[in-house]
Amino acid sequence: MATKKDYYDVLGVNKDATKEEIKRAYRKLSKKYHPDINKEEGADEKFKEVTEAYDVLYDDEKRRQYDQFGHSAFDGTGGFGGGFNDFGGSGFGGFEDIFSSFFGGSRRQDPNAPRQGDDLQYTMTIDFREAVFGGKKTVTITKEVECDHCGGSGAKAGTSKKTCSTCSGTGNVNVEQNTPFGKIRTQRTCPTCGGTGQEIEHPCDKCHGKGTIQKDVEIEVTIPEGIDNGQQVRLQGYGEPGYNGGPAGDLYIAFRVKPDKEFVRDGDDIHYELSITFSQAALGDQVKVPTLHGPVEIDVKAGTQSGRKLRLREKGVKNVNGFGFGDQIVTIRVETPTKLSEEEKELFRRLAELNGNQVKGSQESFTDKARRFFKGD
Ligand SMILES: [Zn+2]
Ligand SMILES: [Zn+2]
Repeated sequence: MATKKDYYDVLGVNKDATKEEIKRAYRKLSKKYHPDINKEEGADEKFKEVTEAYDVLYDDEKRRQYDQFGHSAFDGTGGFGGGFNDFGGSGFGGFEDIFSSFFGGSRRQDPNAPRQGDDLQYTMTIDFREAVFGGKKTVTITKEVECDHCGGSGAKAGTSKKTCSTCSGTGNVNVEQNTPFGKIRTQRTCPTCGGTGQEIEHPCDKCHGKGTIQKDVEIEVTIPEGIDNGQQVRLQGYGEPGYNGGPAGDLYIAFRVKPDKEFVRDGDDIHYELSITFSQAALGDQVKVPTLHGPVEIDVKAGTQSGRKLRLREKGVKNVNGFGFGDQIVTIRVETPTKLSEEEKELFRRLAELNGNQVKGSQESFTDKARRFFKGD
């Protein structure tokens, strides 16, 4: 616990950051480290760390506790006195329960306040070239939409909500809880109305009082030119509907890009392996190389070694943020022939003789002789 990073540092915000700034920082970082997107080692941990920091700093009450007591406000080593250590031995969980029983009522936001709907995430698999050149694609997403039967009210047509009978409209109920200190009376959100203070007497037949229904929605997604594997775009307002008139959440489309048969992408650069023959490597040649933007003729110089790299400027991928084009890097591989005709073999033998090499086949080898002997020809 002593090595735990400061929550403000984790989110990269100032001590006096507004809730909006905290939310923005969290969104940015949680997207960056989301385990579905970021496969790097440690991203998972980072994601947890960021989420934990957000959980505390975005909550006014928890933030106040944290500002006052630091991490010890939550790990039981301080804040409310060391006594918590004894029964909170199971760690955060044990303490969390007691913490909620103290603050359970006040930690919740006003349930009747307008709130933004939840964000949605969708992973779209696209072809290599779709990512390079961009395009449009329609996806079908199952999401909550406002119930068209009751207009989102949740009440049957011609009826309306009434004051909740459980909490008499206050939205809270008092509960008694057994804790190591004895019985504690706390306020909890009313289980009947969920804190709204209103109850639906005759729920809508279609949504059963929820106000929303699940629906398959078709959305046309613009694939940005140059998008890469793991990157995502945000479609503002395409998430779940808001609560109490709040704005809808956002839809994040994360892209998975299928590999290509001949090109390998590295950021905006493209790698390509070009196979040439011995003779091309030795004597030089003009060779056509495919690129994403059509074939390009390159000069293979006489005496080219296998593994040599050539850079074709701006023949790579257009940067998704508009910072020009990447390059195509061509790695030359000199192929050793595996099947030779008699005539080719003869030429290689002749070449070997000129080089002063003693090669197989220039004279019949012992094994060949032996094989011929046993086969009887
Ligand atoms: Zn109620
Ligand atoms: Zn309805």
